[in-house]
Amino acid sequence: MKLRVGQGFDAHPLEPGRRLILGGVEIPYERGLRGHSDADVLTHALAGAILGALGEGDLGRHFPDTDPRYADVSSLTLLAEVWRMAQSRGFALVNADLTVFAQRPKLAPHLPAMREQLAQVLHAETARINVKASSPEGIGALGRGDGIAASAVVLLEAG
Ligand code: MG
Repeated sequence: MKLRVGQGFDAHPLEPGRRLILGGVEIPYERGLRGHSDADVLTHALAGAILGALGEGDLGRHFPDTDPRYADVSSLTLLAEVWRMAQSRGFALVNADLTVFAQRPKLAPHLPAMREQLAQVLHAETARINVKASSPEGIGALGRGDGIAASAVVLLEAG
């Protein structure tokens, strides 16, 4: 059995006039994440973790933010592309564990939808993906609500 572990981390600032997309799910809020794509930190953390497991560097290397093709693109498209790379090398998902760090808004009601959405892109059973939210408890920039961060760990298995 050939196992590969990968971890990912991402953070984006919040600003007015943007939609808030996390794990491919639009969440009603007065601000959204700023970035070249839809700035979906959770999906970026997961895609980064998969690239890590493959030994393929980072998201910026594969999808440069200077490339107009990726302007305002859904991050699920990037995740799907990264996942095709994993599958073409014969890897399947054992499991993924993800955490979103956000002071606001309350994410608990949206976690099941994020999980479903990400599982769908990876063609995986929902049970293989865990999405949780953690409050920064008012500490620092994340605690002030300046932005949202996310981390991910994935385990892949060669088929
Ligand atoms: Mg990002």
